[in-house]
Amino acid sequence: MELKKTLLMPRTSFEMRGNLNVKEPIFLSRWNEEYLYEEMLKNRQGAPQYALHDGPPYANGNIHCGHMLNRLLKDFIVRYKNMSGFNTPFVFGWDTHGLPIENQVTKQGVNRKTTPIVEFRQKCREYALKQVAIQKEQIERLGVVGDIENPYLTLDKKYEARQIEVFAEMALQGLIFKGLKPVYWSPSSESALAEAEIEYYDVTSPSIYVSFNVTDGKGVLDKSDKLVIWTTTPWTLPANLAISVHPRFEYGLYETSKGRLVLLKEFKNRLQEELELGEMKLLKSLQGQELDGVKVKHPFYDRESLVLTGEHVTNEAGTGLVHTAPGHGVDDYNVCQKYGIAPYCPVDDRGFMSGEAGERLEGLFYEKANSVVLNMLKENNALLMEGESLHSYPHDWRTKKPLIFRATPQWFCSIEPIRKNLLAEVKKVHWVPSWGETRMINMIKDRNDWCISRQRAWGVPIPIIYCEDNTPIIDKEVFDHIIKLFAEHGSDIWYGKEAKELLPVGYKNSRSPNGLFSKEKDIMDVWFDSGSSFNGVMRERGLKFPADLYIEGNDQYRGWFNSSLTISTAVFKKSPFLNCVTHGFVVDENWDKMSKSKGNGIDPTKVANQFGADILRLWAATIDYKQDVRISEGIIMQVAEGYRKVRNTFKFLLGNLANGEDQPFSIKADKVDTFEVVDNFILAELERVKNDAINYFEKYDFSNGISRIVTFMSSDLSSFYLDITKDVLYCNSKTSLRRLQVQNVIYQSIDILMRLLTPFLPFTMDEIYHSLPNLEKTNVQLLDYPKVSSVFPDSVIKDYRAFMELRNIVLKKLEEARSAGLIGSSQEANVLLSKKNDFLKQLGLDKNITELARLFVVSNVGFGSYETVLVTRAEGQKCPRCWNYVERLHEHEEHAVCERCLNVLKENK
Ligand SMILES: [Zn+2]
Repeated sequence: MELKKTLLMPRTSFEMRGNLNVKEPIFLSRWNEEYLYEEMLKNRQGAPQYALHDGPPYANGNIHCGHMLNRLLKDFIVRYKNMSGFNTPFVFGWDTHGLPIENQVTKQGVNRKTTPIVEFRQKCREYALKQVAIQKEQIERLGVVGDIENPYLTLDKKYEARQIEVFAEMALQGLIFKGLKPVYWSPSSESALAEAEIEYYDVTSPSIYVSFNVTDGKGVLDKSDKLVIWTTTPWTLPANLAISVHPRFEYGLYETSKGRLVLLKEFKNRLQEELELGEMKLLKSLQGQELDGVKVKHPFYDRESLVLTGEHVTNEAGTGLVHTAPGHGVDDYNVCQKYGIAPYCPVDDRGFMSGEAGERLEGLFYEKANSVVLNMLKENNALLMEGESLHSYPHDWRTKKPLIFRATPQWFCSIEPIRKNLLAEVKKVHWVPSWGETRMINMIKDRNDWCISRQRAWGVPIPIIYCEDNTPIIDKEVFDHIIKLFAEHGSDIWYGKEAKELLPVGYKNSRSPNGLFSKEKDIMDVWFDSGSSFNGVMRERGLKFPADLYIEGNDQYRGWFNSSLTISTAVFKKSPFLNCVTHGFVVDENWDKMSKSKGNGIDPTKVANQFGADILRLWAATIDYKQDVRISEGIIMQVAEGYRKVRNTFKFLLGNLANGEDQPFSIKADKVDTFEVVDNFILAELERVKNDAINYFEKYDFSNGISRIVTFMSSDLSSFYLDITKDVLYCNSKTSLRRLQVQNVIYQSIDILMRLLTPFLPFTMDEIYHSLPNLEKTNVQLLDYPKVSSVFPDSVIKDYRAFMELRNIVLKKLEEARSAGLIGSSQEANVLLSKKNDFLKQLGLDKNITELARLFVVSNVGFGSYETVLVTRAEGQKCPRCWNYVERLHEHEEHAVCERCLNVLKENK
């Protein structure tokens, strides 16, 4: 008989090659057939709920790497919490209203202006549902679990009704109002935009200084004096109604080569040069307060502008006197409100100057109006200096065209009355990373009233009906009726019925003596749609509210976190989430944004189909997602390499549970209770790794937890333990206690590592699970997560580290002996250790020479009066079965083997 055939070499059905692209789809169908998600909930019936509420991605286009990262992080948490003993309902959501969908439908040849609105909305709905179906399939491929059959869509009737419910409550509280107010307006989209829809780019604008002649100096200035302002938007001068000064700044009236000018004293030197004012003589010093009420002539219209005082005036740029157009700026609007000056805005929806701006400007696009305004200033001798300035300017995030501030009638949600509560709620939330709290607080501190109306078609209509005198009806009975209609018919009913038909039967209002009513045409900001999801989903479906966790990209401080927090605090006086985690953006390997035009995009669906979703999952689990994270083909290859190592370690572990062709190791039949020192070392280290990893995962820190696990697998487990136990595993008899001990350690390692990694690599771990004997559950996901141990054997770890130090010295000496040609393989060596080694005595290893020799993978260990470690060439003969050197070989049939091997061969017979 060949000796090689008497060895117990590893064997397992678990394949070396992942072939994830082929296997994962098979696993997915099996999970579907097993109703995995439903089974997960059943498994935790009656357990405390852990509610992660899904922030709805926008239903347009294929999923990109940002979606993929977000979906995977959520899935890690859902799977982890479920295995840890929580009931984890997870409802996928989609944001399905809004302009990008309208634009896509228009691109397909549907004319928004000529198509009846109900029909146009139907096209939008069809488009949105198609997009949801595409994205559903793509995210399922990633192996994410949740209620994919019943997702929430913001276009659902019930969802819309729940949205109107919170709107009505806010309106009844007096938080919703209609006003003429400057808002970010996109001429290219012909709509108001939310702050979250704005991007800033640098642009070059005209930079001009303009003088205004005093008409009424209130006793502090003369009629020949001039006030100087600076602006980079000459086209807003037609809307100038005032000049603002700071009440406590010090201004000066100067005699200059360009007349008697008023400007901020501290700017004198800069302006003298910039405006070429020649010799300047201070005629008078004035506190800003003293200028309050002074009147000046508009530089090219026959009307006056008023001097106001306001705290918004800064001493950072310009002249310290601020051009004030309440129709074109929020600060301007606010200061003018105090003086009773109404906003005025001679610019239309598309950004063209209206007739109010006068003949010369009427019909000009606002940017073109700049040069005409400059000419008018020159003709009136009011232009002191013109130049150019490069500055950051707001743009429409979709059309990439510049925005303007423009006063229009809009619906608002007042922030001021709830600001204090909002700030208090922010402080109650646990933010990860912790700077999220400051970011959110700053966002809320500076936040203006929220403009919630949009002049578009595809969205939830603002459910306001007006009386004959245009008074909006804010009445619980009316709102309740509309909520019922929406729940039953969806918001399309708003467009299919007359205003009167939307009111309760027999509704009367003294402001409509003739029984005539009209309805609001604007729709709601999509951030109001998604921001009310805690009501449309968590409360509607009876899930935990507030939710345990919201986790999204860090652009959502401005977006979804903000709108959700605002609505929930307004209506329920509390934050809709207890924890808020954010992740960075996914960029390419040079930290550049991914874009189609650059061709640096990575398509996650393609990667999943080519390399496997578990590769993407391993990537997502090992990056520091709190910052921007990189992905590229090269990075994916590196991750795949790391994956192969993990897989190979598991393959080796699984293989050694086999006992040749016999019954494999069974944890029930083959369990042992006594272990050798080194087994205890590894079991203690495994315990510690498990504890550390769980502590990291509890803090949503996946990368440190996974790194702890993977490092343990490749170093302590693979390079050390599996290396030194090979001799026992391959050469000992299958009934030997030592081999069973090692198999027990291996089984426990597989069991714990597999459970730890299941939330992250569910495909691979399920494959491993199905390679084990005696399964109790259909899916590895239904097992319990390991728990942190309350008592931990610190002393064992200390001994372990001390032993490893000794082992390192031995390995170094062996390496030296090898270089010197004394030995080839380490089995050709004997190691002699110092007699004085109390540490080995303490561990009892001085008595167990066989075990000690195994720990160094040498043939023999002796003790003597050596200071450190001595390596000699092993004497005796090499056993042809195990390659160890022994004094004497024993004859057995045609072979001569060592005593251990002899016994194994005899037993095998
Ligand atoms: Zn042998």
